[in-house]
Amino acid sequence: TYAKEPPKIHRLDESVVNRIAAGEVIQRPVSAVKELVENSLDASSTSVNVVVKDGGLKLIQVSDDGHGIRYEDMPILCERHTTSKLSVFEDLQTIKSMGFRGEALASMTYVSHVTVTTITKGQLHGYRVSYRDGVMEHEPKPCAAVKGTQIMIENLFYNMTARRKTLQNSADDYAKIVDLICRFAVHHINVSFSCRKHGAARADVHTVATSSRLDAIRSIYGVSVARDLMEVTASDNDPSSSVFKMHGYISNSNYNAKKMTMVLFINDRLVDCTSLKRAIEVVYAATLPKASKPFIYMSIVLPSEHVDVNVHPTKREVSLLNQESIIERIQTAVESNLRNSNSTRAFHTQV
Ligand code: ADP
Ligand code: MG
Repeated sequence: TYAKEPPKIHRLDESVVNRIAAGEVIQRPVSAVKELVENSLDASSTSVNVVVKDGGLKLIQVSDDGHGIRYEDMPILCERHTTSKLSVFEDLQTIKSMGFRGEALASMTYVSHVTVTTITKGQLHGYRVSYRDGVMEHEPKPCAAVKGTQIMIENLFYNMTARRKTLQNSADDYAKIVDLICRFAVHHINVSFSCRKHGAARADVHTVATSSRLDAIRSIYGVSVARDLMEVTASDNDPSSSVFKMHGYISNSNYNAKKMTMVLFINDRLVDCTSLKRAIEVVYAATLPKASKPFIYMSIVLPSEHVDVNVHPTKREVSLLNQESIIERIQTAVESNLRNSNSTRAFHTQV
């Protein structure tokens, strides 16, 4: 007997390929917001304002006061793999910007309707143009504009029925966006951020630029969080060969929460590092008598060649050289701070 005839292999239509890839980069509204805010920060903005309608499915609008986009770049702005940040592969080793793939804006045009308004320094007016599937829908139109760029994402996932349905049923995307902006605001203290629902009079996050990290945390997470924090630092043993430095604020034994908050930046990138998070959680559980989950803000700086930023399209997880020894050092620092604060507290309550 003969096996079944093999199915014929064919090339996927480019639009199908692009839409599939786009769904990977932009997983939900909050991923679009992250990409847009990172672009604003990469453009040296000092003010970033976010407006969201219907959890981001109807509208996401990010406005900044950054350097803007050149008129002559507008035709290729939303094509896949067009970027001002990377030229050759080797640049990845030293790249300081958060973007580098030239995929975010393109991806958004494959799963939503994108409108860009931008003005560059010294111009009398700006330009506005809409994009779909990577290309401009018309010539850029002159328009009034203040400094910087505004990007509007409308009807996200309009052409991905299943994705839209699952997201419509989960009502927490606006909360995820607010949480994201809070995290950026804690780290980028020289930038002012706001985030509001479309049509709302009040912003749900509103920060002003400050020079104090603790002030930033206080204004974002509240007095009750800020008053129970202590400063923590760590670095390599030998200062002459210093390859990593950590600075942060961590909750002390008075702090009480049911859920862990971990705001982590590595080389100024907002990332997740599951093993570091677990390692810190373990220290708190082992050191504190009551089962409070910690609040952690941590900024780690490493030589850029020790961080691989290119492990995932969302750039959310990074991998580090010597990760284990770095985690161990941080654990030790957290533990000794915590022990000190705990014994001081015990002492105070006895007296
Ligand atoms: P990447 O950030 O990886 O370069 P993106 O698709 O996010 O790719 O953006 C493409 C390019 O568009 C960027 O390299 C940048 O030059 C420009 N750009 C995007 N957003 C902004 C912005 N808010 N202000 C200025 N330029 C921007
Ligand atoms: Mg980008």
